[in-house]
Amino acid sequence: MMANVVIRNVRAMGEPEAIDIAVRDGEIAAAGPGVGQGVPGAEVIEGEGRLVYPGLVDAHTHMDKTLMGMGWHRNEVGPTLLNMIENERRLRREEGIDSHQQSTRHARAAIATGTTHIRTHVDIDTEIGLAGFDGVKRTQAEMAGAVTIQVVAFPQSGMLVRPGTVELLEDALRNGAEVMGGLDPSTIDRDPVRHLDTVFGLAEKYDVDIDIHLHEPGELGAFAMDLIAERTRVLGYQGRVVISHAFALGGVDDARREQLCEMLIENDIAIMTHGPGGHRAIPNFKVLKDRGLRICTGNDGIRDAWSPLNTPDMLERIYIICYRNGLRRDDWIEDVIRVATHGGAEVMKAERYGIREGADADLVLVDGETHVEAVISRPAARLVMKRGRVVARDGECLV
Ligand SMILES: [Zn+2]
Repeated sequence: MMANVVIRNVRAMGEPEAIDIAVRDGEIAAAGPGVGQGVPGAEVIEGEGRLVYPGLVDAHTHMDKTLMGMGWHRNEVGPTLLNMIENERRLRREEGIDSHQQSTRHARAAIATGTTHIRTHVDIDTEIGLAGFDGVKRTQAEMAGAVTIQVVAFPQSGMLVRPGTVELLEDALRNGAEVMGGLDPSTIDRDPVRHLDTVFGLAEKYDVDIDIHLHEPGELGAFAMDLIAERTRVLGYQGRVVISHAFALGGVDDARREQLCEMLIENDIAIMTHGPGGHRAIPNFKVLKDRGLRICTGNDGIRDAWSPLNTPDMLERIYIICYRNGLRRDDWIEDVIRVATHGGAEVMKAERYGIREGADADLVLVDGETHVEAVISRPAARLVMKRGRVVARDGECLV
């Protein structure tokens, strides 16, 4: 067999024996016990029984507005969603957040922890225009060899309530936004039908997928889901829509939740859930999983004007989801690991993903007794590969 790099003796989740991974031109040429023996001329990386995960997937974050590296920001924001949105816009004006610089910092921190794929929602509004978007697109191009970034055109401040926003979103789609975003169609835009018609209309026009932030609780959020499913069906958008947060799934009675799950499955709509803190109802991870919904997860905003609490580490995110949902059993925690890897890759349509022949060699090697144990201890020393190239080692990004 021909290979440039051979990783010997690593343990993949669900594999009874240690495996070798042979990499040729950035692609996995073979993966299995003993396949790394006697490969002439290949660089050998001795795994020494370490764990291997496919690259971690942060399928929901906000790279344009992290405050990492800008000094500690003292958070004194008010309690409501509108307080947070307005506070953020004010801070952006006063502090002059440079989205290119900040998204680069974010990307490097994520790569260091083993993230190889990121879907980022980027603010577009009538104040900042496309400046944040352009900065993240620059980072996306510069970092393409080390991390796959997908950009969502996101109307964080509302769309219909701020005339001119729709045109800016369309500009972003024309300039390479890969996904169309949306946000709380009733509480922010106060016109759910027109908001969702616009979101789906633009997505269809530019043939892009959809990812909608839906914080709306209870029946209000459930109604938004009805409208989203209806449009998904009519436009043939099955398999192309994500509802992020979907708090309503945790805030309606069992019968209504069952009906919503049925509808989401019928229309192949995925849910992004990430175990946020606080007292609000959130979708129960295990219920979604057992019901057969497609799920992805992400860190959401990392050290930004909303909250200082999140970090770029997806192993920590897995831990947080387990903590918030009371998932104690190893097999339950393994389900969350799959969501933070394959679940996100599926949503991002990363077809060359996984530890298998023909996939990109996007891999993370971590010390640990088992894949679940490593989620609990989260060692900083990780070896991270993107298409067969080492991009981070021992917690340090090399690109
Ligand atoms: Zn978000």
